[in-house]
Amino acid sequence: MNEISTINSPITALQLRDNLHYLHPFTDYAELHAEGSRIQDHAEGVYIWDTDGRRIIDGLAGLGCVTLGYGRKELAEVAARQMQKLSYSQSFFKTSNEPAIQLAEKLVELTPKGLNHVFFTNSGSEANETCLKLVHRYWNLAGKPDKRVIIARAQAYHGSTIATTSLSGNPVFYTSGGGMPISGIERIEAPYWYLNGAGETPEEFGLTAARWLEDKILELGAENVAAFFAEPFQGAGGAILPPDTYWPEIQRICRKYDVLLVIDEVVSGFGRTGKWFGCETFGIEAPDLMAIAKGITSSYFPMSATMVSDRIASLLIEKGGEFYHGFTNSGHPVGAAVALENIRIMEREQVVENAAELGKHFGEHVASLADHPLVGNVRSCGLFAGIQLVADKDKRVLFDEALRVGDHCSTEALHRGLALRAIGDTMTLMPPLIITRGQIDEVFAMTRDALDATA
Ligand code: PLP
Repeated sequence: MNEISTINSPITALQLRDNLHYLHPFTDYAELHAEGSRIQDHAEGVYIWDTDGRRIIDGLAGLGCVTLGYGRKELAEVAARQMQKLSYSQSFFKTSNEPAIQLAEKLVELTPKGLNHVFFTNSGSEANETCLKLVHRYWNLAGKPDKRVIIARAQAYHGSTIATTSLSGNPVFYTSGGGMPISGIERIEAPYWYLNGAGETPEEFGLTAARWLEDKILELGAENVAAFFAEPFQGAGGAILPPDTYWPEIQRICRKYDVLLVIDEVVSGFGRTGKWFGCETFGIEAPDLMAIAKGITSSYFPMSATMVSDRIASLLIEKGGEFYHGFTNSGHPVGAAVALENIRIMEREQVVENAAELGKHFGEHVASLADHPLVGNVRSCGLFAGIQLVADKDKRVLFDEALRVGDHCSTEALHRGLALRAIGDTMTLMPPLIITRGQIDEVFAMTRDALDATA
C-alpha cells in the first residue's frame, strides 16, 4: 500500500486511504479527495454512526432501500442459516432452489394481478434492463418486430447500465459513460405540475401530460411503438408526483395503441407510498412488466426482480425457445431467503399499514414547510417527500444551478445530524418505514433549521 500521511491534511488517515483506491459511484472525485468521505461505522434502526462518533438520522433509508431500518437480527440470522445450508445455487440450466421458488410465489401474491411470473436479477438497473429485453423479445415473438421504439420521460431515472441510462431522462447520465445512449428511445416531458403546468389545475394538467404520450405515439406511428417506461412517481429525477388524473389516462392510451406498460417500482415498491406498490397508490392496474428492487430485501442483500405478465410469459414459454439472458446470481438462495424474511417481518409488524398512518403525520410536517421563504412547492406521498427551493416563490423562479443551494441545504442538515438528499434544489426525504412519530418530528425540526441556515 502507498505511504499514508495526514500531516498538513484536513482529512483522516482512513479518508486518505479511501481516496487512494476506491472509486465511488456518482461522485465528483476532485471534491471527494479535497473533503474526504463520510465513513459510516455502524447503524441501528433509523440512526447511523460515522467513524468520528457522530450520530446521523437517516432521512434517506440509505438510498430509499433500508425499509426495515438497520441492524435487524432476524435478517442476519436467516442469511447465516441459508449460507450454511445452500450458499449458492445457479438458476441457469434447469436448476432451482426452494427459497427462490417460495419468493416467486410470494411476489406474485403481493404485486398487481396478472404479474404471475418472476425473473430474478440483482439491482434495479438489471431489473429494468431485463424489462427492456423482454419488451423486444415479446414483440418479435408476437410477429410485430417493427414495434421497437420505447417512450420514456424527462427526469426519469431507471439505472446506470448503458441501456437504462439511455432510458433515464437526464443526458448527464449517458454522457458521463462516454455518450452512448442506445437508439430507439423517445422522450416526453414529466408530469411536473409545479413547473410545467402553468394556467392549469393539477387535474387538468394530469390529462394534458398524459396526452403528451398519445401525441408522441401518433407522431411515431403506433405500429412502431413497443412500450412506455415509467416510475409511478419520479424519485431521483426530483420527487415528481403526478396528479390523480395522470395514470388512468396513461393506461387508457397504452391500451388503445397496444403499447406495453412497463412500471419501474424500484423506489416506490415495498411500502414507500403507504401501499405495497406505487401501482396501488396511483391506480395503475395492469402493468405488463414491473421492476422491483431495494425494499425487496431492505438492502440486506443485493436482489431485484422483473415481474412479468401472463401475456408476455405465455409467449416466452410457448414460442420463445431459449432466453439468452440472466446473471450468475439470479435467484440467489441467500437473497431469496432474506427477501422472504423481510416480507414476513413487514407483514407481521404491519409495516406498510404503519407507513400509511405515519405518512399522514409526515405529510403534515411537509406541508408546514410551505411557509418557509425558500420553499416554492412541497409534495409528499406516504413516507416520501420533495421540498422544492426557489429564488422567487411568487414567480416560481428557480435558483441559478451554479449556486448549488440544494447542496448547501443538505450540508446544513448533515451538520445538524440529518441525512437528506438534494436533487438540484429539491430536497428529498424517504426515511426507513419503521421510523416513529417522534423521530419524524426530529427530522423536520432539523430540516427547518437547515432551511433557515440556508436562507
Ligand atoms: N429505478 C429507479 C426508480 C431508481 O430509483 C433506481 C436507483 O435509485 C434504479 C432504477 C437503479 O437501481 P440500482 O441502483 O439498484 O441499479
